[in-house]
Amino acid sequence: MAWRSSGATNRDLIENLWNNKLIKDARVKEAFLKVDRAHYAPSHPYDDRPQSIGHSATISAPHMHAYAVESLLPYILPTETNPAPRVLDIGSGSGYLTHVLAELVGEHGTVVGVEHIPQLAELGERNMGKSAEGKGFLSCGRVKFRVGDGRKGWVEKEAREGEEETVERRGSGWDAIHVGASAVKVHDELVAQLRAPGRMFIPVDDEEGGYEQHIWTVDKDAEGRVEKKKLFGVRYVPLTDAPK
Ligand code: SAH
Repeated sequence: MAWRSSGATNRDLIENLWNNKLIKDARVKEAFLKVDRAHYAPSHPYDDRPQSIGHSATISAPHMHAYAVESLLPYILPTETNPAPRVLDIGSGSGYLTHVLAELVGEHGTVVGVEHIPQLAELGERNMGKSAEGKGFLSCGRVKFRVGDGRKGWVEKEAREGEEETVERRGSGWDAIHVGASAVKVHDELVAQLRAPGRMFIPVDDEEGGYEQHIWTVDKDAEGRVEKKKLFGVRYVPLTDAPK
């Protein structure tokens, strides 16, 4: 079913993801409609499939991005108690998902995309600069692209205007962490950087050196208790050392 969502236009693609129940929440649909995938995918942007973006990286298929956003949604949206959500997108690649997440975090929210390949961090930023809205997110600091090893997570030192109070109260960790490449394990640093409550969406190898992977969600509740759930089988590029 996942592969049946391809369309002729951006709207077509998103309507098909909606009709196939891959996007279920109207706010998620709205966010996807605001981002033109043509700014992020090198060709056939409205096909529901992954595509190479160079440097052994791929832009994931739209249905995978839909699953990820639906799963993280309760942690991404601003609320009265959390007006400035912080979201980490590890392996941000094309920057497409980073942009969709930025549509959802609200005016005081932050989304940081982390890449270990500098050219891909630049690609994400360049792609986002193709739309007026994306440009605005970059200039106001709602979105930042950083270069680093995502297995260690990311500590964003600069607090944004409007988020100081939330950072003081809830710490500088992340309400939601999306990992866009397959990890050999759920890295402790990532769990430690989750706020309480918070959720991580991460593909993990079933066994070392194997080709089978599953999506896991790692939830931290308000008391800091951690619960891991194995969801469904996937194929992601691996989370690795940076190429020399
Ligand atoms: N979410 C992106 C997925 C890109 S593919 C998109 O849909 O466009 C996975 C990405 O993870 C690649 O861009 C790769 O460079 C990056 N990556 C792999 N290992 C990494 C690491 N250790 N730290 C940060 N990024 C990593």
